[in-house]
Amino acid sequence: MTHRQILDMATKKLLEAGVTEAQNDAFVLWQEAFGLNRTGYLINADKEADSNLYPKYMMLINRRCTRMPLQYITGKAYFMGLELKVTPAVLIPRFDTEILVEEVLKYVDAESTVLDMCTGSGCIAVSIASLSKATVTGVDISQEALEIAKGNAEHNQVSTVEFLESDMFQNVTGTFDVIVSNPPYIPSKDVLELMPEVKEHEPMMALDGSEDGLFFYRILAEQAADFLNPEGLPIMEIGYNQAEDVKKLLANNNFIGIRVIKDLAGHDRVVCGWRK
Ligand code: GLN
Repeated sequence: MTHRQILDMATKKLLEAGVTEAQNDAFVLWQEAFGLNRTGYLINADKEADSNLYPKYMMLINRRCTRMPLQYITGKAYFMGLELKVTPAVLIPRFDTEILVEEVLKYVDAESTVLDMCTGSGCIAVSIASLSKATVTGVDISQEALEIAKGNAEHNQVSTVEFLESDMFQNVTGTFDVIVSNPPYIPSKDVLELMPEVKEHEPMMALDGSEDGLFFYRILAEQAADFLNPEGLPIMEIGYNQAEDVKKLLANNNFIGIRVIKDLAGHDRVVCGWRK
């Protein structure tokens, strides 16, 4: 079979399995299996493919047919221009979370200290440290996630980030200029409505925000002031319909100047305030 025929067949197989970006995913996995890039495709499309590599490609396609996310199959994700390693122990970094990082970058420099609560893959902590040279502490309850996060700091040669195992603020000491967080925020009953890629493969611990989805925002709002410097900034990613609730939580805990920032689709995405 030629490369073009193989790709067409794989795309069809993925579509039948309900994969939405079938053509893209077939191509990304093709690059992975055959070790070729886009130019390689243009040159080789109508040439016979190496039959030794074909079984590897089909294995990757079959995995994607089980609705395992592409990033867990390739082991890679891209965030703020960085390549990050991901496994099913961590949430796959989302493009929308870049809005959160971009907002933080407006307020920090090499002198700043930042706490990233629920760091997961470390995408937020590593990108902020890499782009601002701020000193960042990434916190997570999962030892497995912290190993991935540390690897991501090393892989990107970021030296001003460290990681701490802690159930929210439990083991955190000191104060910070910014507390940033993209905590689990999906109400428990809504988790079952998510795409198979998410609900069957991503860590439930990283998704489930308890009954009303606000469990971690409550802890953040109640305890952030104890870990923030005067005039420090708490800043959190939220679900599209959580702005009012999270604003109220911050206001009830004496934060001022509370603001909501929208994502590119026009949905409420980030809430922040200031410590008085
Ligand atoms: N902070 C990580 C991210 O934004 C993990 C978030 C989480 O596990 N809820 O991707």
